[in-house]
Amino acid sequence: MASSDERELDSLTDRTVELLQTMIRNECVNDGTRESGHETRNADVLEQVIAGPSVDIERFEPVPGRASIVGRITGSDPDAASLCLMGHTDVVPVHAEGWRHDPFGGELIRTAEGVDEVWGRGAVDMLNLTSSMAVAFRDLADAAARGAFRPRGDLIFFGVADEESGSAHGARWMADHHPDAIRAEFVLTENGGLHSGGPSEAPFIGVNVAEKGVAWRKLTVRGTPGHGSMPFRKDNALVKAAGVVQRLAEYRPTPRFTELWRTRVDTLELSDEMRAALLDESLIDDLLDDLPSVPAAAHLHACTHTTFSPNLVDGGAMKTNVIPDHVVVNVDIRTLPGDGAEEVDAHLRAALGDLADHVEVEIIMNDPSSTSRVDTPLWDALARAVNVPFPTARLTPQLVVGFTDARIYREMGAVAYGAGLFSPGLDAGEFGSRFHGHDERIDVESLALTTQLWSHVCRDVLA
Ligand SMILES: [Zn+2]
Repeated sequence: MASSDERELDSLTDRTVELLQTMIRNECVNDGTRESGHETRNADVLEQVIAGPSVDIERFEPVPGRASIVGRITGSDPDAASLCLMGHTDVVPVHAEGWRHDPFGGELIRTAEGVDEVWGRGAVDMLNLTSSMAVAFRDLADAAARGAFRPRGDLIFFGVADEESGSAHGARWMADHHPDAIRAEFVLTENGGLHSGGPSEAPFIGVNVAEKGVAWRKLTVRGTPGHGSMPFRKDNALVKAAGVVQRLAEYRPTPRFTELWRTRVDTLELSDEMRAALLDESLIDDLLDDLPSVPAAAHLHACTHTTFSPNLVDGGAMKTNVIPDHVVVNVDIRTLPGDGAEEVDAHLRAALGDLADHVEVEIIMNDPSSTSRVDTPLWDALARAVNVPFPTARLTPQLVVGFTDARIYREMGAVAYGAGLFSPGLDAGEFGSRFHGHDERIDVESLALTTQLWSHVCRDVLA
């Protein structure tokens, strides 16, 4: 017979599964437009889950339909450090044809190997974490109401909209307009907790402590309009823009290694020769050129370079018989720590060469790389919480090549980590492909482990 502790854990896991299914079915798809997202649907559900006698709730809706929600269990000591569990409530669009199951069905499906998985957009990014955070928060609120949880600092749950398109209607807006409503010393958000190498008797568990910067740029290439019937020696903006795109694609910025990179390479299981090449700035590019796995090469390259991806082109009212006078090229630039706006300008000049004089550069987004230190009580508490189910596991700090809302908290002075805890059976490479990919799904064991992780860390840090 199961002990009462086990039954309690099972019932928490059931609640996380059910909440995750509901949030997937709410289809809060953020396509980058102001009118998309509809995160109010998930905010409503989360409010029902976290509401209770010991919880103060605030809602913020900067744009109709895009609510974020903040729940707070007030601690006994106003000077004690506070902890925020932050989960975004939006998801990215899908191409349903590529999926084996309904991307918004939230189905619970058992694999041939007997593994139960919840399917749907958001199952790993990051409704799995958001739902488990809300359930752990509610459980702690219930404990607080009966005197079984007495936090010194505040515990905050922040269900936030609009992470996937850059946070303008979510965390960025909150930080600009209501910073006191979300301020915390310590923050946990997406995304860590994968078993990432090391011997099986002492595995490494990844925790994200740093992110690359985001330096999106709009390049406007000017030309002279004219009739398409007489192209000879004309100044065609599209032809020049093609050159701009080509040079960006061919640009090879020099690699640069951070301390986190060295730590990362140390945790990978590699031959000595490969390890040496990955840690040698004169050898790494050749190694990545020849690496058989393209996804691995792209990831390792992104960890060690500022990257440039021309992803969007727009020529205004383009017509087949008109030589265009301007073409816009949007470039997704992701910067290493230390590369600010000036360095981005220098990179662009180097990449474009003589074409640079024909291009006007505008900033779309300019958030520098951010890092949190690891000598903190939150890090130690995470390590202890991970050691409950995995007594010999060790945390390893990692750099995220994408961005999350952690960057906004780091700007506010918080220590923010991307955490979670996944089942050891998940293959990190395959798991990575589920982010924004087809067949996004999460196993129930990982949902159980993550729900318990938040619970342990909150009790530990706020004690
Ligand atoms: Zn996410």
